[in-house]
Amino acid sequence: MTPMLIDHLNRQRLERAAQGLTRQRRIAESPCTPRQWVSRKGQPAREMLVFGSNDYLGLANHPALIEALAEGAHRFGAGSGASHLISGHSRAHAALEEDLAAWLAPSIPDAAALYFCTGFMANLALLTALGDTSATIFADKLNHASLIDGALLAKAPMQRYAHRNLNVLQRQLEGCTTPIKLIVTDAVFSMDGDLADLPALLALAERFDAWLIVDDAHGFGVLGEQGRGALAHFNLRSERLIYMGTLGKAAGLGGAFVAAHPDIIDALVQSARAYIYTTAAPPAVAHALRVSLRLIGSDDGNARRAHLRQLIHQLRMELAALAAAHPALGWRLPDSSTAIQPLTVGSNEAALALTASLNAQGLWIPAIRPPTVPLGTARLRITLSAAHSAQDVQRLVDGLTLAARELA
Ligand SMILES: *Cc1c(COP(=O)(O)O)cnc(C)c1O
Repeated sequence: MTPMLIDHLNRQRLERAAQGLTRQRRIAESPCTPRQWVSRKGQPAREMLVFGSNDYLGLANHPALIEALAEGAHRFGAGSGASHLISGHSRAHAALEEDLAAWLAPSIPDAAALYFCTGFMANLALLTALGDTSATIFADKLNHASLIDGALLAKAPMQRYAHRNLNVLQRQLEGCTTPIKLIVTDAVFSMDGDLADLPALLALAERFDAWLIVDDAHGFGVLGEQGRGALAHFNLRSERLIYMGTLGKAAGLGGAFVAAHPDIIDALVQSARAYIYTTAAPPAVAHALRVSLRLIGSDDGNARRAHLRQLIHQLRMELAALAAAHPALGWRLPDSSTAIQPLTVGSNEAALALTASLNAQGLWIPAIRPPTVPLGTARLRITLSAAHSAQDVQRLVDGLTLAARELA
């Protein structure tokens, strides 16, 4: 007899398959670059042109970072050995936190910074530590899963407002009776690529004595002068800003950080369970991140961002023309000026048919389906990197053109 749990899981698996929602991993056989060797169960490895990573500056395989990781391992060892509050807080972590605090200093007066193993944990830590019973959390409906889960785990009630709808948010703030109010938003929405109206959100925060928590996973390193992120992009400066940046995307390595008023950072160290009860990341990663920060802020970083902006412009022009040439396919191009350029196709089946056609042409672009995105908005999530060339983008456009003819 099949055990109950296995039986239950098998039923869920069949339901998922019937809805075209089965997820499958591929194995990257080579480093993260636009041309990557990948394999699938039972199939030989092949080289594909990939538009799916969040390695926006092309640093994930940069020789200087590989070198810095090796150097960090030689200096600080392979593992940290313990959590930050026990014995795992290395000089490499401390030095990185100083660099990160300085990075955010133009936007947050007197900022302090705290390094985390992942952005998911940083968000859980932040929302559970600040979101106690005296607080209310206000969240954009399209916020990242880690912000939603952080808010669900927090004792504070959560009120969600329709995507970027500040009128709804304002009414919620007006009706709020808790002394502490936390507004939480992605800066760049991860599946749509559009920007939150951070200046207006900050104005609301100031007006209602609230705090604005900004998750800049996709803006850090990419937006603003020297890649300083979304706050710099909008020229914001306020003590009421709490910033979360991730370091596994544009920074090319891994981990994340929160930068904020020093008392907020201290509260996280004292009470955030997702910070306290986990082993510190290998110090070599922190060491290499310091080198990554210098690269991001350098002339080389500026050149990478300028090239990325050109690719974004090229792709948008071509995609708009393509969607207009095939109206029957119902492809839509949301309004995004960032490296995240989704092509919304509608049903799960349509998204899978499109990726299958591209796959046959050696192009790998992930299809994103519910529950990651709302029902009926399955999409190709095309992401660009400074490591792509204009020819790479043209090859993607040619591939989509051929797919459009096949599917029409
Ligand atoms: C990727 C991402 C995270 C999680 O960061 P990790 O370091 O990958 O855990 C959090 N928020 C947003 C908006 C993201 O895109």
